Amino acid sequence: MAITGKTTVTGIIGWPVSHSLSPVLHNAAFQALGLDWIYVPFPVAPERLAEGIAGLKSVGVAGFSVTIPHKVAIIPLLDQVTPEAELIGAVNTVVAREGKLTGYNTDGIGLIAAVRDKLSFDPAGKNILVLGAGGAARSAVVSLALAGAAGVTIANRSQDSAAALAQLVAARLPQTRFVTRGLDCLSDAGLMAGFDLVVNTTSVGMAGDSFPGLALSSLKPGGCLYDMVYAPPVTPLLAQARALGIPCANGFAMLVAQGEAAFRIWTGVTPPGGCMEGALAAVL
Ligand code: NAP
Repeated sequence: MAITGKTTVTGIIGWPVSHSLSPVLHNAAFQALGLDWIYVPFPVAPERLAEGIAGLKSVGVAGFSVTIPHKVAIIPLLDQVTPEAELIGAVNTVVAREGKLTGYNTDGIGLIAAVRDKLSFDPAGKNILVLGAGGAARSAVVSLALAGAAGVTIANRSQDSAAALAQLVAARLPQTRFVTRGLDCLSDAGLMAGFDLVVNTTSVGMAGDSFPGLALSSLKPGGCLYDMVYAPPVTPLLAQARALGIPCANGFAMLVAQGEAAFRIWTGVTPPGGCMEGALAAVL
């Protein structure tokens, strides 16, 4: 579709931003729906974030995605954030309406959609092991708790980071029991037998690495595994799960689902089924 004076502009801010796959996702969906909208990458340096946001607001963009390193720093620059984004402490989607900027976090929405869709897994009442304590872990822990998880164990290389994350969320999400561990717990077969789902939120697997001694074979019968890593599509962790017959899926579905959620927030429309997935698969 040709860009005209009436085209609605959205985009993504990050530094760098040239590697982002989001323009592929969103422009494919705009085209599929015949919407006169466009999604553009905006490189915004960290020290120019406030200027960048003011500029986007003044030129009237309808909304934008937020990626590294701005997901946390943008919060004080927005007019409001959703309760979920506030709990996660990070924003990845902003909508501009009536001169006001509202921040959302769709990563957690993406994770819950992905485990429901790919693993038929409902977190309500379940006991879940989250590997990692960084930004992706934070969205996972909050969204799993909001979806009704009974227990979330956060296992991280740095146990201090795991403890800090648990402390942050425990007071706000009292219906879920939070426990923290070091990665050495992964070889504890008795402990592993208590989990319904393992979610890898670390970057382990991107370089062909894995979790040494992980007692995945001891996982609760019917237990499953979600690996947020999507490149490579089959990490050693996923290969281990597959070999054991454990239902598992990679981060591709979450990436698509968080994009679909952002698209819905801006346009009010759900992208046609398979549209974003197909566009992403073509470039990955
Ligand atoms: P981050 O904030 O930098 O956190 C990285 C986490 O990985 C930390 O918990 C870190 O542990 C752990 N880690 C890194 N290297 C490790 C190693 N060699 N052994 C053990 N643990 C290690 O990064 P993030 O934003 O959370 O992102 C993490 C991963 O999630 C990335 O691969 C990213 O692509 C993926 N992700 C996927 C999606 C999706 O849509 N599929 C969305 C968001 C993120 P320490 O605290 O001990 O350093």
